[in-house]
Amino acid sequence: MSKIEDVSTPRRTKEIIQRHGFSFKKSLGQNFLIDQNILSKIVSAAQLDQTKGALEIGPGIGALTQKLAEVAGKVTAVEIDQRLIPILGEVLEPSPHVQVIHGDVLKLDLAELFKEQFGEVSGVSVVANLPYYVTTPIIMKLLEEHLPLENIVVMIQKEVAERMAASPGGKEFGSLSIAVQYYCEPELVCVVPHTVFIPQPNVDSAVIRLKVRTQPAVQVEDEAFFFEVVQASFAQRRKTIANNLKSRFFAKEGRERLEQYLTEADIVSTRRAETLSLEEFGRLSDILLKAGLKS
Ligand code: SAM
Repeated sequence: MSKIEDVSTPRRTKEIIQRHGFSFKKSLGQNFLIDQNILSKIVSAAQLDQTKGALEIGPGIGALTQKLAEVAGKVTAVEIDQRLIPILGEVLEPSPHVQVIHGDVLKLDLAELFKEQFGEVSGVSVVANLPYYVTTPIIMKLLEEHLPLENIVVMIQKEVAERMAASPGGKEFGSLSIAVQYYCEPELVCVVPHTVFIPQPNVDSAVIRLKVRTQPAVQVEDEAFFFEVVQASFAQRRKTIANNLKSRFFAKEGRERLEQYLTEADIVSTRRAETLSLEEFGRLSDILLKAGLKS
C-alpha cells in the first residue's frame, strides 16, 4: 500500500478542508495541529509500542491519529463531528488496527468501549489534542470511571495544565490539582505556541502527561466524601479552612468541635485550603467521616 502523505502539514491540512468544504466549529473546540515536531512530542510522551493501545479523543482530520497508528498496536479515535468521519476515512489508510467511532466521548460507555477495542493490547493510553471547552469533564470522566489506563497525554489550555500540575502553596493549587493528583502523577511536557494550530486559539496551550497511579495517592475511607471535603475547603479561596468547613459541615454546631477535629488532623485552623497537601486532606476527611459528618 502506498504511504499516504502526512496530513499535518499546513498545505495538506488546507487542501483537505477546502476540498471537503469543511468549516471549523468553534463550539466544538476545533483547532487542528499542523506541526510535526509537536505531534512527535505528544506521541513520544505516551511511550507507546506495538503491544499498546491508544484512545484518541477528537481526531479532527487525523493528524495525530496517523502518528499514533505508526507506533501503537491498536488506535481507536472518537470524533463527535459527523462531517469529519468521511475525511478520516480518506486520511487514515484502511487499516485493521485503526478504528474511528462517531460519538460524544462524554456520553459513551468507556468501560464497554475498552472491552470491545482493547482486549488484545497490554496497556492503553489516552492521547489527544483535546477540545478545550470540555477538557475537565473529559479528564474527570476518564479518571473517575477507573479505566485501566497507563497514561493520559493531552494538549490542553496552558493555564489548566498548570493547575493540574500545581503543588500546594501556590495560587494555581486547587480542587482540580487534587482530583488529578489523587489519580495520577502529572508532568508538563511542553508549552505550545498559538502558531501550531489552524485556526489559532486565543489561549496558550501545553502538553501534559498524567501517569495514572496503580493506587490513589492517599488511602481514604470514603473517596466521595474526600472530594466533598476538598470542594468545601476551596469554596471561597480567600477564607480559612476553618471558615469554609464551618459553612459546609458545622452550620449548627459549635466552632469548638471543628477546631478539635482540625487539631486532631494536625492542621492549624487559620490555614487556607491551597496550603494543604493531599495527605492532610485525606487525614481530615477520615476524621470528619468518623465524626459522622457525611450527609
Ligand atoms: N486531533 C486533531 C488535531 O490535533 O489536529 C483535532 C483536535 S481539535 C482541538 C478537537 C477535536 O475534538 C475536534 O475534532 C472536535 O470535533 C472533537 N470533539 C469536540 N468535542 C468532542 C466530544 N465531546 N467527543 C468527541 N470529540 C469531540
